[in-house]
Amino acid sequence: MGEFELIRRFFASAACAAGGEGIALGIGDDCALLQLPAGEQLAISTDTLVSGVHFPHAADPFLLGQRALAVSVSDLAAMGAAPVAFTLALTLSEARPDWLEGFARGLCAMAQGCGIGLVGGDTTRGPLSLTLTVFGRLPAGQALTRAGARAGDLLCVGGSLGDGAGALPLVLGERQDSGAEADYLLQRYWAPQPQLALGQALRGRATAALDISDGLLADCGHIAAASGVALWIDIARLPLSAALAGLHSRDFALNCALSGGDDYRLAFTLPADELAAVQAAWPEVAVIGRVEAGQGVHLLDAAGQAVQPSALGYQHFGSQGD
Ligand code: ADP
Ligand code: MG
Repeated sequence: MGEFELIRRFFASAACAAGGEGIALGIGDDCALLQLPAGEQLAISTDTLVSGVHFPHAADPFLLGQRALAVSVSDLAAMGAAPVAFTLALTLSEARPDWLEGFARGLCAMAQGCGIGLVGGDTTRGPLSLTLTVFGRLPAGQALTRAGARAGDLLCVGGSLGDGAGALPLVLGERQDSGAEADYLLQRYWAPQPQLALGQALRGRATAALDISDGLLADCGHIAAASGVALWIDIARLPLSAALAGLHSRDFALNCALSGGDDYRLAFTLPADELAAVQAAWPEVAVIGRVEAGQGVHLLDAAGQAVQPSALGYQHFGSQGD
């Protein structure tokens, strides 16, 4: 199968490449064209996933397609942007139709769920890797950056933490659990749902935001540094799913919540008087701490005492790269 036949068969003719709002020209020319209303800005983010580093070689292609796009779209959610379009640069060692068919189906399922259209890409031969670039739109000047947190704000997250890392032993085949709890964690790993509606609702409310991809502690460190503040996290307030708590020891579950990656929940800082309105629409939003003057990320134990991350057996989940 030649390059053009492959592009036509699996991508250009896919339902997620049929265009949509904001897409003036899609796949097939030298460039795609995006059309933004006056007064809006384009939000852009790129991620590369390398086989054997970011996902197992034998990963199911449907799940991989789904997850690769979700991870990228999550960056749009974190800025408060609405999805418009994405491109796919695909490097393949061989053009296996069954693999490509599954991958394209997973990619398109997530694309249609998120309302984002495939507008172009590149196809090359080499060790399997995927680079996705996503484009979103938002009113000029209203992006949720990492830089606006202020002392006195609450530190919040968009739902349970640690599920992605809690799924890793199952994903990597180190554990073979089955049942509803295992299914839930695997679903959170392979099909994280970008918090798009929450991100857009936080525009004009949250003072800083990001999506948790490298672990809560590491990512909160980015907000603290960019905003020039200290973040204090109450360990007792970390929201853990019943599945994570049920399948793992409490220590391991807390480790996943604090330092495991792959959550793709939003973490954001919020003036206290905004909390009721946000939680009315998103009851799963949890306050996990507060912003103070100072620097860095700090932990409080259940008794309200400062504790070092290392005292919790904190360890970095190194197996998945960045
Ligand atoms: P060019 O040589 O002008 O860069 P290509 O031959 O690489 O164009 O690609 C032809 C068209 O197919 C372009 O519109 C490009 O964006 C699109 N395309 C290539 N690979 C992919 C892919 N994996 N997914 C989606 N679109 C792709
Ligand atoms: Mg090209």
